[in-house]
Amino acid sequence: MNTKITIAIDGFSSTGKSTLAKQLAKHLGYIYVDTGAMYRAVAYFAMQKGFITSSTFDKSALIAALPTIQLSFEFNETLGFAEMYLNNENVETQIRTIEVSNYVSKVAEVSEVRAKLVEQQQEMGKNKGIVMDGRDIGTVVFPEAELKIFMTASAATRAQRRFAELQQKGDEVSYEEVLKNVEERDYIDTHRADSPLVIADDAIEIDNSELNKAEQFTIVLDLVNEVIKAI
Ligand code: C5P
Repeated sequence: MNTKITIAIDGFSSTGKSTLAKQLAKHLGYIYVDTGAMYRAVAYFAMQKGFITSSTFDKSALIAALPTIQLSFEFNETLGFAEMYLNNENVETQIRTIEVSNYVSKVAEVSEVRAKLVEQQQEMGKNKGIVMDGRDIGTVVFPEAELKIFMTASAATRAQRRFAELQQKGDEVSYEEVLKNVEERDYIDTHRADSPLVIADDAIEIDNSELNKAEQFTIVLDLVNEVIKAI
């Protein structure tokens, strides 16, 4: 398979976008980019600097500090995926906490943050052979992507999945807190002015509430093969 395409995977929080994207990238020998990790790293930075707290958000301070933020991915052979680095520090664990999840959508609303990350994402995908997941990949980052997938599942299913994941990591969090976070992020992500989460006209919607990982992977891999055959 020599023809390399761009695969955009968008959808709501905790729909398993990254699991699917990683499976595809590994199978196809493509680069995988988790754009949520980039927004999470910026949110973590804002938290560390005290720009965002539970009651305040100093957007101007964050915007002024954007040039000092350097984001990169480094492949971890043992884990089999690329980990997120913020100014050369591995922040993969720190960015997955419920605290960061509670702030990230507010940070992702800031147009200056989006412009910086979108530019870097477009640069990473300029040679195709990439699977990128996020909220605006098929609409803003790669509107020309050959394959666009939009993933959905009920909020309860998604919260249950995220809750199980966090529990496994030893995070002391309740199911109700996770559900509230998932619903809040859905709301902010779909209502923001800049690049809201919407399904692209040419995206294929997959509701995976009733699908296991293997079934979902097979469905999407068939789509990839169809697209490549048609090129
Ligand atoms: O994908 P994940 O759930 O880790 O993303 C965290 C948050 O980052 C999302 O809820 C959303 O607010 C933001 N995000 C975004 N655009 C993207 C990826 C993530 O606004 N392309």
